[in-house]
Amino acid sequence: MNYYNLKDRHEQVDFKTATIKGQGKEKGLFFPEVIPQFEKEFINNLSQFSNEEIAWRCMADFVGNEIPVEVLKKITAETIQFDIPLKKINDSISVLELFHGPTLAFKDVGAGFMSRCLSYFLQDENKKVTVLAATSGDTGGAVAHGFYKAPGIDVVILYPKNRVSKVQEKQLTALGENITALEVDGSFDDCQHLVKQAFADEEINHHILLTSANSINAARWLPQQIYYLLALKQWQQSEKEAPVICVPSGNFGNICAGLLAHFRGLPADHFIAACNENDVIPQYLKTQTLNIKPTVATLSNAMDVGNPSNFVRILELFDHQFNTLKNTVSGYSIDDKTTLETIAKVYTEYGYMLDPHAAVAYASLEEYLTLHPDKKGFILGTAHPVKFPDAVEKATKVEIKIPDSLGDLMSREKKTVEINSDFKELKRFLLDKN
Ligand SMILES: *Cc1c(COP(=O)(O)O)cnc(C)c1O
Repeated sequence: MNYYNLKDRHEQVDFKTATIKGQGKEKGLFFPEVIPQFEKEFINNLSQFSNEEIAWRCMADFVGNEIPVEVLKKITAETIQFDIPLKKINDSISVLELFHGPTLAFKDVGAGFMSRCLSYFLQDENKKVTVLAATSGDTGGAVAHGFYKAPGIDVVILYPKNRVSKVQEKQLTALGENITALEVDGSFDDCQHLVKQAFADEEINHHILLTSANSINAARWLPQQIYYLLALKQWQQSEKEAPVICVPSGNFGNICAGLLAHFRGLPADHFIAACNENDVIPQYLKTQTLNIKPTVATLSNAMDVGNPSNFVRILELFDHQFNTLKNTVSGYSIDDKTTLETIAKVYTEYGYMLDPHAAVAYASLEEYLTLHPDKKGFILGTAHPVKFPDAVEKATKVEIKIPDSLGDLMSREKKTVEINSDFKELKRFLLDKN
């Protein structure tokens, strides 16, 4: 499969190059040159296929012969080696729990697939690669775990000191081995700025092969389709009509993967982009004008994005036809007050604990279903509530139990290198290390 650069169609690359480079010229995103269709017998009879078979079939066309079938089957099986259950919250709303992976967030799926592909592509190159990423919390953990102990790959994660939750911090800092956490005295924007400077620095790039692992990489974006299929497999067991699918959205990679699966034949009645107060896309869907705004800090902080980078992929998928897009996707914006009220209400009424991101989705879907009472749907549960204890405990007045899957993580030692937000410090660290 070839991928073209959305900023310059003449730039076409294979899957390997798209995975290693992450993005094309002028920071353009890569997009598949064809949208491969699912076979009808497959998509209508998902229950007859194992999850591993579904995951492999979902990805095979996008990788082509660049990874041998047996290797790709192993990679896709490992990508979904944790439970992804669809649970009913009430009669009309279910939740797809995507947070049973190593870092308790849906990003484990994309990061796990991407890291395995990258390791495969680099194994014969005899080069050492440094994956450099800034995180506001969830991305860093998923990337660190995805690359943990991967041969030939070093990971350096920058995170803002005192601004990630306790669980998130441990996930970044307690691994050791090939993972280094840089604790930056600054904000997430400072971290991101430092990373950008490093990618642009000639001296660093002369000495070190740097790769980014951010969410616009096609190898992180595409495998997210897999769990939409796994959700549908479970949905079909009790429901006849296609679901309304509601996705808590920040950079819009997750919902864009669901829409891609829909274009390939995945049945869905409607999609909802659930946003917090960062409402650029919900506003666009109403007014057809894209009004990029500075980011507002909210309780669902993984969705605090003012300029969603994957939205260009959605426009491309819809061939820039606004009306078709509007008829397929609705946008909602939910404020922090409603987020907390929703967490409290759903816990009291149904005994189900939502994290703030899933709460934004729940409130959005509930609002949509008030207008369409004959429909049913599911939300994507993108993070475990334990990652956002402050908001969840405030809303429910209940202390959240740390899940067994975290093992002894919380008692392990935190190891970081502290730097300030001056680029010279990062540069010295990277050059000394290699
Ligand atoms: C990253 C993240 C999101 C947003 O996903 P996008 O693909 O960027 O839209 C939503 N919820 C959680 C918990 C996240 O970590």
